[in-house]
Amino acid sequence: MNVNWQGVSGSEMQTESIASRLAQVARVGLVVALEGDLGAGKTVFARGFVHGMGVADPYVTSPTFTLLNPYLEGKMPVYHFDFYRLESPEELIQIGAEGYLGTDGVALVEWPSRAGDWIPADHLRVVLTFRDEEPDKRWIEFRATGGHSNMILADFCHLEA
Ligand code: ADP
Ligand code: MG
Repeated sequence: MNVNWQGVSGSEMQTESIASRLAQVARVGLVVALEGDLGAGKTVFARGFVHGMGVADPYVTSPTFTLLNPYLEGKMPVYHFDFYRLESPEELIQIGAEGYLGTDGVALVEWPSRAGDWIPADHLRVVLTFRDEEPDKRWIEFRATGGHSNMILADFCHLEA
């Protein structure tokens, strides 16, 4: 059975800190699919994660034209993809995205649905939701989808306990 975790964040900082805790238990090959509407906090989550990986003051933004921002100064490389502007999964071949999955680090992917089946079956789904009435609150759900992500999420849940 797949491991699941749910939480509520009351601030941008709290979302960063949840992401940073996930970074502490991340293992090589982890792919994190960040789902949620514009403004949900996917990039905030990515920033917290990169910070948790040990990059002191990471400049993590939603890239306008780049599809990939690598952060190599931490415990392990973090490849932050943002596919908001991806026209088709074929573009992934052009940027050589294939080479970044499951190799030496962790991949964080915003708008993963645009990448088609490029996302491996075993990944960690992070779903961020919000309501306009509560602008600082985010509902966060983690869902593992395979053996590797289950192990990592189980470790995360132990940290929490
Ligand atoms: P996305 O990448 O999903 O489009 P961003 O991370 O760029 O979204 O932006 C999230 C916005 O929501 C930021 O302006 C952030 O300050 C704001 N925000 C408010 N509350 C939270 C929260 N609890 N967690 C994350 N972001 C929050
Ligand atoms: Mg973003």
